[in-house]
Amino acid sequence: MQLKHYLYHLRFKHPFGVSSNTRTETPSVFVELQWEQVCGYGEACLPAYLGETVLDTQSFLETSRSYIERLRYPFDIESCLQQIDLIRPGANAAKAALDIALHDLNGKLRQEAVSQLYGISHTEPTLTSFTIGIDREEVMAQKIKEASEFKLLKIKAGTPDDRALIRAIRRYTNKPLIVDVNQGWTNKAEALELASFMNDQNVLLLEQPMPVAMKEEMAWLTARSPLPTYADESAKRLADLESVARQFSGINIKLMKSAGIREATRMIEWCRQNGKKVMLGCMAESSCATSAMAQLMSLADVIDLDAPLLYKNDPFKGVSYADGFIHPAPGFGCGVQKKETDPNAES
Ligand code: MG
Repeated sequence: MQLKHYLYHLRFKHPFGVSSNTRTETPSVFVELQWEQVCGYGEACLPAYLGETVLDTQSFLETSRSYIERLRYPFDIESCLQQIDLIRPGANAAKAALDIALHDLNGKLRQEAVSQLYGISHTEPTLTSFTIGIDREEVMAQKIKEASEFKLLKIKAGTPDDRALIRAIRRYTNKPLIVDVNQGWTNKAEALELASFMNDQNVLLLEQPMPVAMKEEMAWLTARSPLPTYADESAKRLADLESVARQFSGINIKLMKSAGIREATRMIEWCRQNGKKVMLGCMAESSCATSAMAQLMSLADVIDLDAPLLYKNDPFKGVSYADGFIHPAPGFGCGVQKKETDPNAES
């Protein structure tokens, strides 16, 4: 099997603001695994807050090269991914890129969608939220207008005054909201007051209200909050779930955190067995990784898979969007294909 990887800069249509920073692009390292004439695609999306660098990711992929290039079809995907995971701890995005590419390739060679490989019989178009980043009021108003087809909006909060932020949003839309606080609330009593305020504002759920380190405060808030709380930064991999279960009502599972599709399916199973809600989310990824996660969306309670819509130079085609719904990519594997134009020419 042949391994190729290359760096690509995904460029936002609008500068993208969260509570910690605003950025105009996201680096992704794309992976191609080729067996005979068939190519599987994968992606390591690397926003700075993830804490995994381009250099680390490239170095992990190079370390895995001799193992990957010895693989022959048919390969046992389970044992391949175990071996890759053992190379070293961390590097979850690099591991995700290899996991996604192996699943895509395996599905294409077996002529089955990845959802079928996991026994998911039917994947329907599903309602997805659309994210509005933190910005000046007139820019947010413009973004809300552009998102008119979406029925559920996700607001990046954690600003110095989140009440004012939500009141500003409410001047332009009455749609239900997901509020992602990105660890921005640091006082539990104020957090509970904010949760009650949000509950009165047609907010459906809160994502990662408090900092990862504030475990006791987070458990206190979830026990009292009128809104369900979902872990994002607090829960990366399967091994984290046991210890954060008490703190949240649900988990936002993302491929770049879980090290790929295989572990994401196990995290979903764990949530089901332990009474936790499941959100499937994404980093600011291209259609490559988003199409991979979309294979699992019939297993989730909430879908937040809008990232490809935020970019003007997505080098892949896969999932599509219509009337606020995300449609899984047709075809085998993850259904993802490279666009005809040379992606590197645009980066
Ligand atoms: Mg989040």
